[in-house]
Amino acid sequence: MLGELIEPCGRGRLAREEAASDPEALATEKNPRASRPRPHGPHSHEQRIDEVVVTYFAKPHSYTTDDVVEISAHGSPVVLRHLVELALARGARLAEPGEFTMRAFLNGRIDLTQAEAVRDLIESQTLYQAKVAAQQLDGSLSRRLQPIKQKLVELIALLEAGIDFAEDDVSVLPAEQILDQISAVRTPLQQLSSSFAYGKLVHEGLTLAIVGRPNVGKSSLFNRLVESDRAIVTATPGTTRDLVTETVALGGIPVKLVDTAGIRRALDEAEGIGIRKSREALADADLVLVVLDSSEPAEDEDNRLLALVAQRTTILVENKADKISSQFQVPSSQLPRVQVSALTGEGISELRAEILRQVGGELEGKGETGFLTNTRHEGLVRDSVAGLDAGVVAVYGKVPHEMVLLDLYNALRPLDEITGATTNDDILNLIFSRFCIGK
Ligand code: GDP
Repeated sequence: MLGELIEPCGRGRLAREEAASDPEALATEKNPRASRPRPHGPHSHEQRIDEVVVTYFAKPHSYTTDDVVEISAHGSPVVLRHLVELALARGARLAEPGEFTMRAFLNGRIDLTQAEAVRDLIESQTLYQAKVAAQQLDGSLSRRLQPIKQKLVELIALLEAGIDFAEDDVSVLPAEQILDQISAVRTPLQQLSSSFAYGKLVHEGLTLAIVGRPNVGKSSLFNRLVESDRAIVTATPGTTRDLVTETVALGGIPVKLVDTAGIRRALDEAEGIGIRKSREALADADLVLVVLDSSEPAEDEDNRLLALVAQRTTILVENKADKISSQFQVPSSQLPRVQVSALTGEGISELRAEILRQVGGELEGKGETGFLTNTRHEGLVRDSVAGLDAGVVAVYGKVPHEMVLLDLYNALRPLDEITGATTNDDILNLIFSRFCIGK
């Protein structure tokens, strides 16, 4: 019997208790109108506190596939906690974090990628992140991986058969065919691996630093971006290292804006405070907006800033387009440029689009599903590709197939760690179904 208060990290309000065994007894026992004699203790008084809904999910039609009883109450934390205490007093125990999802996994209802998607769904900060997690929960990654894995298992089965049953006239695969088949596995795996750049962006978001010398309009731009995108996550109040940060949703991607606001010439020091603060803001940035003031001639500090960001993904933002000066000349630079006015809002949507373009985030809506969003998965796909590459080297080296197989198993194992294990039976079944060996 399990008791769980569904209030993950304060995100939910529903309370429920669940029973993994003897649900009927539990339902009766927990029914407020149950006529059983009540034991003494904190729950012995008869006064009604809340009306609840008790839902019984008969196995296997439940989240975990066990028999499950859920009790939904009205949501006051005090009442919910009281309910949990009552359940605990009657022998329930609190669920471990993630225990229900783990049970669903262990009972075979969902695979590992789906279990991980549940966590992503709970943690999602933007609707788009939630959609991506929901797709994975629906098995999108497994569906993409499964046929790739199947091809690898078939190749393994072929080679195993060649070795195990050589005396039964099973032809050994020619090297070119092995290479072709390895390549048929490697290509889609490599594509999947490339999808991680975008998936990571969706999953983890990105940090965007707004830098520029004082008074070019950084804070105004920051506010404009925050306002037009509405802050989606609690803003970090005050400042971090004198930097103001706020997270907004841009194209469904959480973007943490870091502004060097509040820095004024009055505070100026030897190096130029704009430069010093910009260095700090730059430290963690995935993308940099260098803001220039197009209402006046560019200054040396602008050029110094540009030198500072030379190695970074950068967009030049020519602010104050509403009162552009004929004296203003963009410092010579190959960087993408956008003209905006933080004052009037002109050019802001172009800037948003350019930000997404620079980070490869304009993929949203292209309908690609099953991309990698998770560092663990990405590492495993890379391991698998490495195994295949070693296999290719082995084939070229004309080593015995036993050795090639070792590499192919090294390529299979990481995929198993993503979707769930391939058993020896799976491979044997393939061997026997394909070859009619043993008659
Ligand atoms: P920061 O020091 O770089 O953060 O600059 P601020 O955002 O504080 O802006 C400095 C001054 O420029 C303020 O008086 C703003 O109102 C003004 N400003 C900012 N953006 C624009 C713009 O697009 N057009 C005009 N005309 N003024 C702007």
